[in-house]
Amino acid sequence: MKKIMAANWKMYKTADEARQTAMALTTLVGAVPADREVLIFPPFTALHAVAGALRPALGFSMGAQDVYPADEGAYTGEVSPGMLSDVGCRWVLTGHSERRHVLGENDDFVGRKTTFSLAAGLNVCLCIGEKLEEREAGMLAAVIERQLDKGLKDVPGDIAPESLAIAYEPVWAIGTGKVARPEDIVEAHALVRAKLVALLPSAGERIPILYGGSVKPENAAEIVHLDNVNGVLVGGASLQAESFSRIVLA
Ligand code: PEP
Repeated sequence: MKKIMAANWKMYKTADEARQTAMALTTLVGAVPADREVLIFPPFTALHAVAGALRPALGFSMGAQDVYPADEGAYTGEVSPGMLSDVGCRWVLTGHSERRHVLGENDDFVGRKTTFSLAAGLNVCLCIGEKLEEREAGMLAAVIERQLDKGLKDVPGDIAPESLAIAYEPVWAIGTGKVARPEDIVEAHALVRAKLVALLPSAGERIPILYGGSVKPENAAEIVHLDNVNGVLVGGASLQAESFSRIVLA
């Protein structure tokens, strides 16, 4: 399975800054190794600029950080899967912890976004992960199972495994500098894998599972080679082309 190295630029960068970072990244990375795939998730306002910058580069794809589950309609401020495809997105993130815990999205809404986007032809990276108090209360497995049950509720059993990825991102490790220990990552990813196989028997073994949470050039190589880790989703350390290029090649 190819390793997916994904950059979430959150609410950072103007269109011009994003275009320059994308161009610098393609120069620094050069030819993406055959066993890797690079995904860039810029803010909506920079999608067009980044699509132009990535067009000549092989091995790079673009996605959006969010989506609304409808083709069109009176949904002020929202963006449909078709609009994202139109501007050059192949991927979309659903359920990022900042959308769940800052913007108040619940599991059912995340599931609707996931199913609708897949049906509309986008690849989806569904983000899941427990809060610190949930981990400390021994609820790791229950949270992972609930978020996958609801997030993948109406996903068809014959889904192509390459159209879906799961990002396991413990909330307490996102943007905090606290990386989960290798044994914590392996334990959580094994739970995710088992649940994927239970929910989607024909695809579950081949759906990539990414780790996210304070990944840096210094720790990326160790993380990306752990059992059941098929890539990383990177926030802070993806904002500079230099540091993210080192992660891509880790
Ligand atoms: C993220 O935004 O998904 C993330 C993991 O952020 P950071 O790498 O900054 O922890």
